[in-house]
Amino acid sequence: MTVNLDEILSKLDPEEKDFIAALIDKDPLTGVYNRRKFDRDVELLVAVYRRTQKGSALLIIDIDHFKKFNDQYGHQRGDQVLIEVSKCIEQSLRDYDRIHIYRYGGEEFVVMIPDVTTKDAKKIGERLRQKVEKTCPVTISIGISHYREISDNLETLVSDADRALYQAKRKARNRVEVYSKVEREEENINPGPRKP
Ligand code: GH3
Ligand code: MG
Ligand code: MG
Repeated sequence: MTVNLDEILSKLDPEEKDFIAALIDKDPLTGVYNRRKFDRDVELLVAVYRRTQKGSALLIIDIDHFKKFNDQYGHQRGDQVLIEVSKCIEQSLRDYDRIHIYRYGGEEFVVMIPDVTTKDAKKIGERLRQKVEKTCPVTISIGISHYREISDNLETLVSDADRALYQAKRKARNRVEVYSKVEREEENINPGPRKP
């Protein structure tokens, strides 16, 4: 039997529908949107962002050495830290309009910021990095890509941010990196495995 979620939701009254939809789209631990919602939103957001003046940025945020933290302090304390980091992200970004925050994977978050230049996105990322460093017992690394200034399609938008994150990890962590086009061009000439 195939279950069609939209069909089920269409049978509920509007209040029930909103309640269930919020549960499905949110990460139960941190309360931010989940990966499922990201996968559904990303295409739509890029279409909307296409119309913004400055384009938009995608940040992938990953907690540094989180396995070690769990090993040392326990998984439960690790869960609390995930909540603390998500709060830091929300607090640092609350001044910006129409921001979307997602828990992308275990200890990774994605933020989409509309109508922002790459340069400003880097400043925002740096502020966030410093806030986590100051207030949380862990640090984060951030990879940034930009729709239009760096990537011109959806696939490279996500993969460029991921590659920038990998660069941040390689350069000692607790860093913000913006993916550089030059490196992509070099990779195209000389492709190789990305992750060890
Ligand atoms: P790096 O700096 O390279 O990112 O190292 P890392 O240890 O953070 O990365 P790695 O991918 O090796 O390990 C991720 C860890 O995140 C492993 C897992 O225990 C932890 N983690 C993932 N999801 C959760 C979660 O929901 N709760 C807790 N407490 N830990 C989680
Ligand atoms: Mg990770
Ligand atoms: Mg990590």
